[in-house]
Amino acid sequence: MDPVQTLNRYIGMLPGLYNSPQAVAGTKEATPFDEHDLANLILRMCPREWETQWKLSQKTVPQTVTELVEVLETIEEAYNAKRAQEKSQGSSDGKRKNGHMSSPNDRIPKKAKPSDKPSKKCKLCEKLGGKPLTHYTNECKKYNPDGTVKKDFGRGSSNGGKDTKREKAHFAQMKKEYQEMKREGKHLKKLNKKLAKKAKKRAYESDSSDSDAS
Ligand SMILES: [Zn+2]
Repeated sequence: MDPVQTLNRYIGMLPGLYNSPQAVAGTKEATPFDEHDLANLILRMCPREWETQWKLSQKTVPQTVTELVEVLETIEEAYNAKRAQEKSQGSSDGKRKNGHMSSPNDRIPKKAKPSDKPSKKCKLCEKLGGKPLTHYTNECKKYNPDGTVKKDFGRGSSNGGKDTKREKAHFAQMKKEYQEMKREGKHLKKLNKKLAKKAKKRAYESDSSDSDAS
């Protein structure tokens, strides 16, 4: 809740309608929420089940954020435990069978996908070997419609062609960069030596003059 409180404190610093030329006498300055308002706003942002739990266990609305957080932590624990239990009981069967929501907190169920939608399954690859589930028949890159293997299939990965070329280019690029780095390294070394010499000289000079420079 800390970030919320921090952001809340910033509210007063934000420019608003109050600061604009459009403001009228009745326009109020935006001010941070007080503890009570902030706590109740936070409670309203929580899952509805938590809010209900609060109402069941507390007589009044929260008065401070600290008080709210303390109770909410317990509620969250109970909530998570319940969720875990539901999961282990296999909530998939029974609970939401017909797409009906069993509690108001459930998400609105998506419409079931029509089952007659063509599923991704290449008939050619299924029959002749390949990865049929990764594409449709008409998108097949491996086989021609008549079942013969396409000429350019496999060029990318195994039999030489483009990839090795690309790899070679990549390697050359890397080599170039490495050499550049080496060169820069040498340059740096030189520079360092120069600086060291200068520093020595300076140290010597300051020693002899007995001053306390740097
Ligand atoms: Zn295929």
